[in-house]
Amino acid sequence: MNSDSIKISMQSQSIITIIPLQTAKLEAPCISLEIINILEWLKKTGKKSLIFYSRRGNARAWICADCGHYEKCPHCDIAFAYHTTPNKCLICHQCNNIAPFPVVCPHCHGSKINPVWVWIQQIEENLNKVFWENTKILRIDSDTKEKTEVLYRKVATSDIILTTHFWSTLIHPDIGAVIWLSFELNLSLPSYHIEEDIYNEISYFKKQHLPLYIQTYTPDHPLLREIMDGNIKSFLWYLSGERRDFLYPPFAELATIRVHDEQKKKVADIMGKLINKIGILKKKSTFFAFDTEIREKYGGEWQQKIILKDTDLSYIIQELQVEIVRNRSVTLEWN
Ligand SMILES: [Zn+2]
Ligand SMILES: [Zn+2]
Repeated sequence: MNSDSIKISMQSQSIITIIPLQTAKLEAPCISLEIINILEWLKKTGKKSLIFYSRRGNARAWICADCGHYEKCPHCDIAFAYHTTPNKCLICHQCNNIAPFPVVCPHCHGSKINPVWVWIQQIEENLNKVFWENTKILRIDSDTKEKTEVLYRKVATSDIILTTHFWSTLIHPDIGAVIWLSFELNLSLPSYHIEEDIYNEISYFKKQHLPLYIQTYTPDHPLLREIMDGNIKSFLWYLSGERRDFLYPPFAELATIRVHDEQKKKVADIMGKLINKIGILKKKSTFFAFDTEIREKYGGEWQQKIILKDTDLSYIIQELQVEIVRNRSVTLEWN
């Protein structure tokens, strides 16, 4: 894309432009020549760019570098996370289902299956190499601790805002375009409502009439099609099919019980009791899964969680209510 075609697409308010990554010329990992041109054009016209890139240091998406395919947990329909220890494997962060690490891509049979995704810090470094002169890049990720007002002031004095967050509050009047470096990375975040979050975020930018550039390996993804068409009804229809098939709200109830404490043993004791009780109470139709290990959380706490799914969970939650209310180490999320 040369700067003329960018100009035209901006003037004609063609709000969303898809940049297919298979055919794009990459200047650095995840940074295509098209994106560089857009950033340069915005800079020239005195506008800021807002770039989303969801790979934090600890996010471990597994995506085929040839076709953008990623594996989903067959029980939960959310993306598997990639783990290297103790063995290379894919783990569902919802139900702990473990799948073998693919030898070739299950979709395109390609062999570029080792994660090649870079961290946001590397994206920042690479952008700095390209825009070495008079371009201020502001990176906002989980390391950023400033309050929104402080950040907003920093946004005001930056040219490129690079962020891991879906953060519509960062919208400054001088932002000229929003860029997603990898649609798949966002899509493969392990959350059952990720597609809805993406849809909402994009709808927000569309309402603001901000041009949106999306780099993707899957330009024909049904979610992208729905987004391009802007048909909220058909999107909800698409979503509701998946939600129904995989027992998610509003078609079923989802309960997450988290047990957390500074003492690992206390977590193990409470978990043991809860697991026993649920094992006795649960119906055949109830999906029941729990973390096999106690994980260390930030702030010196240990945590282990239980997932329950069924069309009605009230019968089981009622029985567990005593443990949940009485115990400060147990929290319940139920919807
Ligand atoms: Zn593939
Ligand atoms: Zn799962």
